[in-house]
Amino acid sequence: MKIDRIETFLVPPRWLFCRIETDEGIVGWGEPVVEGRAEVVRAAVETAAEYLVGADPLRIEDHWQVLTKGTFYRGGPVLSSAVAGIDQALWDIAGKAYGAPVHRLLGGPVRDRVRVYTWVGGDDPAEIADSVAAAVEAGFTAVKMNGFGRLPRIATAADIAGLVDRVSAARAALGPDRDVAVDFHGRVAWSTAPRALAAVAEAHPLFVEEPLLPEYGHQLGRLTGTPVPIATGERLYSRTDFLPALRAGIAVAQPDLSHAGGISEVRRIGALAETFDVPLAPHCPLGPVALAASLQVDFATPNFLIQEQSMGIHYNTTNDLLDYVADPAPFRFTDGYAPRTEEPGLGVTLDESAIRAADRHAWRNPVWRHDDGSFAEW
Ligand SMILES: [Mg+2]
Repeated sequence: MKIDRIETFLVPPRWLFCRIETDEGIVGWGEPVVEGRAEVVRAAVETAAEYLVGADPLRIEDHWQVLTKGTFYRGGPVLSSAVAGIDQALWDIAGKAYGAPVHRLLGGPVRDRVRVYTWVGGDDPAEIADSVAAAVEAGFTAVKMNGFGRLPRIATAADIAGLVDRVSAARAALGPDRDVAVDFHGRVAWSTAPRALAAVAEAHPLFVEEPLLPEYGHQLGRLTGTPVPIATGERLYSRTDFLPALRAGIAVAQPDLSHAGGISEVRRIGALAETFDVPLAPHCPLGPVALAASLQVDFATPNFLIQEQSMGIHYNTTNDLLDYVADPAPFRFTDGYAPRTEEPGLGVTLDESAIRAADRHAWRNPVWRHDDGSFAEW
């Protein structure tokens, strides 16, 4: 079998899909994207295609080695995300060629269903409570919320009180048996992080995500002594990137299947995390291929905690995850869990005509400013 053609599709709300076609008619799909920089990743995929067309798609590991190391310059979000989407598509082809779901090629299932969480939004506690109640009604046992909007360098008393009010409202609506995770989104400066973590400790969050930006990872170890489990990883792209965070004592690793080198590398990040007694909670505010790839890893990974998914997320304004799938079965959640299926490959059947008909998008993340006009973290 040989790779004949590699195409990419820029589809709203902010995704990029990659389609790899073989001379035997087997087609694999991947989702190589950096949100807000999809066109740049597309160019990186096109460059990789120069190497891949004509090659055996089943030599996944060899292609991973060449694509990540063969360009001399390595790492970073653009290259790692391009390789991630290609890697997903090659695993999809392999599963279809061998007639097995990817989780069977990874050693077989270690669980029968995968716990997922849903995003809840709202600026005031009453909105959060309503949003959580709707999630509970839909069967979810865990939700994630943003901790803050735009923050000054050192949070005010009102900023911290607002955080506590909103997280407490979520906890009250969830009761003690469900979970709330809180995403600080790298908006919190080091000078505020310990205070913010202490403030939410009483609500027993499942984890607090990105309490610091990745570039301040050397400070993470000063936060991991608090009772609040620390999660990070959506902006880490390899085992090498994760090692210092694991050594600093994070509680949950959040590689993104579309950023951190795909199924091949996230599988290895999971094994590395296991040596620190740290579970995986793959990041995935993305589309159906990224979620399908995540689920395949989740089914085969012993140290798995919970899966993010984007249905109803605030980014999905023009389109949502099911718009591009022909069969929603793998994403039909019951009691907050995704089902395991035996469909070959990534286990998702895409609606190719919907993808080909989709308009391109030009999604960019917002640029925030402080009151004095200077740049603020989003
Ligand atoms: Mg996040």
